[in-house]
Amino acid sequence: MTWIDAYDRRHKPTLRNYLSPPAMALLETLNNELFQRYRIKAAPPRYTQKNGWVFPYRLQGLTLFPLVIRDETGFAAGDLIVEEEAHLKQALAEIDLRCQSGFLQKAEDAVASRKEKARNKRLLEPDTRAEEPEALLPGSDPEKLNQFSWIPALSPAELRRLYRSSANGMLDHGLLDQVGILFYLRCKQGIEGFKLIRSGKLKCHHCGSLLLKEEGLMVCRCGYQYAYKGYIDSFNAHRMPGGNALHIFSEFAEKWPGAQTDSQKMNLIDWMIHQCHINMSSGLRMRSILKNLIDAPQRTAEKLILELAYGDPAPQR
Ligand SMILES: [Zn+2]
Repeated sequence: MTWIDAYDRRHKPTLRNYLSPPAMALLETLNNELFQRYRIKAAPPRYTQKNGWVFPYRLQGLTLFPLVIRDETGFAAGDLIVEEEAHLKQALAEIDLRCQSGFLQKAEDAVASRKEKARNKRLLEPDTRAEEPEALLPGSDPEKLNQFSWIPALSPAELRRLYRSSANGMLDHGLLDQVGILFYLRCKQGIEGFKLIRSGKLKCHHCGSLLLKEEGLMVCRCGYQYAYKGYIDSFNAHRMPGGNALHIFSEFAEKWPGAQTDSQKMNLIDWMIHQCHINMSSGLRMRSILKNLIDAPQRTAEKLILELAYGDPAPQR
């Protein structure tokens, strides 16, 4: 069974149950080497449209490569397929090269910049510091604690299909609405969540009640429970729209309900994609609004936006 068939979006994968013993042994060697040499290790898996669950290998929040699985015979470290010893050696040599030619330096820079940001943040928001980890919340019920349902980001495939249908003069009306409504709902939920966080509140994802920020466990009248930090972490982990580009998301959310005709709807979506493009070209990667809207790694999403902005696939690197 292929990896994608074995574990869909709702089922978190277990590598050890899936990979053949020889492939698992290769992976263990890789993990060992990367950790010994550079302290690089796999982050929790994330689901992608293209490859199903992938494991980003990270250092200081920077991804060196995603570990991609196709079937039980091996894995790919980025573009390098590893199914036997010799491949592994080659992959390690390539990874070494990447580490030495810039990646380690970038990771160091990331630490420095994060420290700087944390200093600024402490100055701005003195009360968002250290809260209890969820495990220490007395009386919490894991089934009811921090159960969120965020509107998902859009898959690149759907956006590409929409643009193709539009370019071919056979606009897919259903898809047009689907994409627009998804953007609309995601922007609305993000904007609302972001504003609530700023005012020290959260909205229960089950009954819609507003809860005031409290230290420790917050219990909604519907029975669901929240830890404020867990809420913020989940908001960020799902890359919900908010932050520096709030005005862009707000503009879309305000205009979408008024877009009646196909061309008004398509223009508005195209406007949003154009905002992604501007944002991307401005070089402010950290602020990129792409990641708030498109469910893909930054590079893939960037390529897609270039392709849509210029009507051609971006040159392969
Ligand atoms: Zn509730």
